[in-house]
Amino acid sequence: MTRADIVVIGGGAAGFFSAINAAEKNQNLKIILLERGKEVLTKVKISGGGRCNVTHAEFLPKELTQNYPRGEKELLGPFHTFMTGDTIEWFEKRGVELKIEEDGRMFPVSDSSQTIIDCFLSETRRLGVEVLLNQSVKEIQKEKTHYIIHTSLDSFSAEKIVVASGSNPKIWKLLEGLGHTIIPPVPSLFTFNIKDSRILDLPGLSTNAAVRVLDAKRKTLLESNGPLLITHWGMSGPAILKLSAWGARVLEPLEYRFQIEVNWLDTISEEEVMEELKSLKYNFGKQTLLKYAQFDLPNRFWQSLLRAAGISESLTWAEATRENLQNIANQLTAGIFQVDGKSTFKEEFVTAGGVDLKEVNFKTFESRLCKNLYLAGEVLNIDAITGGFNFQNAWTGGFIVAQNL
Ligand SMILES: Cc1cc2nc3c(=O)[nH]c(=O)nc-3n(C[C@H](O)[C@H](O)[C@H](O)COP(=O)(O)OP(=O)(O)OC[C@H]3O[C@@H](n4cnc5c(N)ncnc54)[C@H](O)[C@@H]3O)c2cc1C
Repeated sequence: MTRADIVVIGGGAAGFFSAINAAEKNQNLKIILLERGKEVLTKVKISGGGRCNVTHAEFLPKELTQNYPRGEKELLGPFHTFMTGDTIEWFEKRGVELKIEEDGRMFPVSDSSQTIIDCFLSETRRLGVEVLLNQSVKEIQKEKTHYIIHTSLDSFSAEKIVVASGSNPKIWKLLEGLGHTIIPPVPSLFTFNIKDSRILDLPGLSTNAAVRVLDAKRKTLLESNGPLLITHWGMSGPAILKLSAWGARVLEPLEYRFQIEVNWLDTISEEEVMEELKSLKYNFGKQTLLKYAQFDLPNRFWQSLLRAAGISESLTWAEATRENLQNIANQLTAGIFQVDGKSTFKEEFVTAGGVDLKEVNFKTFESRLCKNLYLAGEVLNIDAITGGFNFQNAWTGGFIVAQNL
């Protein structure tokens, strides 16, 4: 049995951030980090397409929390202690500069996730944190004054433990054994599979749109707007990813089969479109409708939507009936699409679910049920939309855990 002051379970973002900051605060502590794999930080490595989207340039706690479908309320206090600015400073102090991209995402200037990994590994070496690989935790025993942890290879005892095992069902089971409630995991952040002739030949096209998820009675279940990207298999982009994150628990029971209504003109209403179409009819009577795209839509897309509205190649604006115009307005502002399944968003995917947030004290990230057991990162029922927010949750949790260990 190996004794330590602190054992951290999980060699990911939250585990490393907890261990390093705890060691920084008190270098006399013996800290052991247990990782089941033969490598650490594997998700950091592949994150953000290999560039690691470390955080997001949002500097107001309240605004930042609004990117978390689960955890919004709970993270407000913690963000007042450690958030974006602190993350930037933390890495800068250790020689890692971050840069902001146009959409607010922040990456290491090197554009390589390896920079983050190298920083963490060199910090653990400098501070004497023992990182042990191939140590899959199988059992967590709670004794009166300490915890005993059995792995596939060894046993460890420590007064305090940090569980930072990500979305790992086995550890969730062990935490259940200690009395915790686990909110069942469901996928979050995914794209919609849609086979529809209107978008079939247009992968790569992106436009600002408003999207509503409809129930069987065509009532709105969820809505969002923002850039929508047409892909080879359906639709992606922020407007869709937001729906997948906020709708993670609503869409799962539907088995990811439902209808969406898309307004390709975002905030422009059907009535406004009708007015504009009537004016086109009045002013450009001799032109065929398909010839020139309107509303700043790409030509091919305009033609595709008009064909779906039943407009023939030769129809001129003068010949267009009120019904023709109504059909066009409808396609532009209220097109119905059938979603049939989901696909992984490869840049970043996360799981909604984990330890029930009611059972955690967010001043310290300590379990309310097990004294001296701390939780950080995706093991908790916290997740965010894409953009660097999921890592920010890991950094914030890890930092606060370390201050309270
Ligand atoms: C492809 C991809 C790209 C992503 N890109 C981004 C991005 O750019 N920006 C962003 O903010 N978020 C991104 N995310 C999400 C982000 O990676 C996670 O939110 C984050 O890694 C969670 O950190 P964590 O430490 O809680 O869990 P993890 O990073 O999953 O780490 C948990 C660790 O615990 C270990 N472990 C599990 N069970 C045991 C056990 N029984 N014993 C010992 N060890 C165990 C695991 O092997 C793992 O190393 C991405 C996710 C994916 C999948």
